[in-house]
Amino acid sequence: MATWAWVIDGQSVYCQDGLPHRHFIPTDSTAIDHQSALALNIDLSAGEFISYRMLVSSLDIHLACQLSCAIQQIHHQNTHKYCSYCGTAFLTATSHTCPNCHHHSYPIISPCVITAVIRPNPTTQKTQILLAKHHRHTSIYSLIAGFVEMGETLEMAVCREVAEEVGIKINTPNYSGSQAWPYPSNLMVGFVARYHSGDIVLQADELADARFFDIDNLPAIAPKGTIARKIIDKICSSDG
Ligand SMILES: [Zn+2]
Repeated sequence: MATWAWVIDGQSVYCQDGLPHRHFIPTDSTAIDHQSALALNIDLSAGEFISYRMLVSSLDIHLACQLSCAIQQIHHQNTHKYCSYCGTAFLTATSHTCPNCHHHSYPIISPCVITAVIRPNPTTQKTQILLAKHHRHTSIYSLIAGFVEMGETLEMAVCREVAEEVGIKINTPNYSGSQAWPYPSNLMVGFVARYHSGDIVLQADELADARFFDIDNLPAIAPKGTIARKIIDKICSSDG
């Protein structure tokens, strides 16, 4: 059996002329990893691997989701070669039912919340968004985000993350869209919440800065194609 498949290396996708490019390969999977492609003598000399983060700003939503899925499939294959219950090796890279105990290894998707906290500017009443700069992304500001913990609802996770990272209280968060984010297999769940009370106190080991910015005076923010940018743009356009 053969099909058209994306070639994946980590979180990067094989591209030609800057665009994701599929190969017709002898597999039943819609994605194959770089090493396996080389082992099948697939010619990758005409292109290059480009990171999903770079590609996503110019992809339409359907292709972005296909590639996000392809990256997550390969990550799942590469990190689930053995049954996690009894240790038996899976028979093929794409089959994840244990041949010994029949335990099925479903792909792991990790929910993360990402939140825009908004308030009126105390002086001008203009809408402001809370943006934070992480130590690891030194040039851009983004929204408050973090993994959902066991036993939490999404809304609890939003309130906890905001309290932990910037020390403020918020009103009940409202859902604002989601995005499959293959770093390595997150489902980003977006929220908007109104500021309730408290002064910003940075979680120093995570954040370099966090402030409320007027929507007409934002710093460098997350690029197009990210859910952070989508939420920020929606707030700006509804108040613009
Ligand atoms: Zn097993």
